[in-house]
Amino acid sequence: MNTKDSGFSSKLIHSGGIDDALGSVTTPIYQTSTFKFQNADHGARCFSGEEKGYIYTRLGNPTIEDLEVTMTELENGYGGLAVASGMAAVNTVYLSILEAGDHMIGHFAVYGPSRGIMEKFYPQYNIEADFLDTTNIENIEKTIKPNTKLIYLETPANPTMDIADISAISALAKKHGILLCVDNTFCSPYLQKPLDLGADIVLHSMTKFINGHADIVGGVVVAKEKDIYEKLKFVMMNMGFNIDPNQAWLARRGLKTLAVRMEKAQANAMEVAEFLENHPKVEWVLFPGLKSHPQYELGLKQMSGPGAVISFGVKGGLEAGKTVMNSVKLSILAVSLGGIETLIQHPASMTHSKLSKEARAGAGITDELVRISIGIEDAKDIMDDLDQALGQV
Ligand SMILES: *Cc1c(COP(=O)(O)O)cnc(C)c1O
Repeated sequence: MNTKDSGFSSKLIHSGGIDDALGSVTTPIYQTSTFKFQNADHGARCFSGEEKGYIYTRLGNPTIEDLEVTMTELENGYGGLAVASGMAAVNTVYLSILEAGDHMIGHFAVYGPSRGIMEKFYPQYNIEADFLDTTNIENIEKTIKPNTKLIYLETPANPTMDIADISAISALAKKHGILLCVDNTFCSPYLQKPLDLGADIVLHSMTKFINGHADIVGGVVVAKEKDIYEKLKFVMMNMGFNIDPNQAWLARRGLKTLAVRMEKAQANAMEVAEFLENHPKVEWVLFPGLKSHPQYELGLKQMSGPGAVISFGVKGGLEAGKTVMNSVKLSILAVSLGGIETLIQHPASMTHSKLSKEARAGAGITDELVRISIGIEDAKDIMDDLDQALGQV
């Protein structure tokens, strides 16, 4: 069905899809590596692009396309590419936009490997980057060089929950002919639409809220314009970053309940954040839904809800944080986020351990910071569990 003018929840259910001769209500899993041509001319027309047809799964597959079309509609983009992981999405962007001699500006507290690979791997190709506090737009303006080609934001950022002003940064980027990419993993398009706010590219780790069930790894990139989409597609197809049809099918299935999962998770998160803020063993709480968040007003402006990830500091620092993580019973001690289950982790020793201690400290990833991704269990059970774990400190 044509869902272009449908509401968000209807798009979640009905976008994408393919014409299936047998009338399947859900898109089937096309578990095939290659597709049969009707004849030699048909094969030639598919390869030349004269006719739209499937050729080989690395280049395109109906199950994958179902997911890509849906994500593109949800993000209001021109075209999307589903890839093997969130990091494949990040690298698709880096490799498509940056050439030798180029410079990139990124937020200093992004997902660990998104910064790590840029600092440790790309310099060998003469690509350089500055990671700084993008919540301060003057910082960005001061750092722009003639060879700056990309501004890379993550907002809210992992794990400090910093919120960058997408519209204002987009205006600055446009003034300097720089592309803007936003990692929208923490919000999902249900809460924030970076392309509508002026970004050129949006990406997700679908491992998180998009799939939402902690059972696959996947990523997606959506471009606002055709020429950027074509560049991303060239890299995706030739680097072999494509997602597997099975994984794509699970992501598409998980996506159907994004709105209801997000509503429940963020309602829970709001309660848990308030509970933590009032807890005697908790030093501080960072959550976009709390008035105490430094960019609370900006969050209200560009996000339609606070999301479900909370960072907090336990009084007593690292040791106290460890005690909490070792004492939880309902929350699961595991990295990742955005699933139906509550997950708790310690970025300094886990997700962000590969960054130097200085880089972490500079980006506000302190030793006492604990990150919790709130699931869709009963809020009372999550709070009771945290209360007993904090009681062990
Ligand atoms: C998890 C995550 C990634 C990386 O995604 P993978 O699917 O693990 O490769 C990128 N950005 C953010 C914000 C993430 O949380």
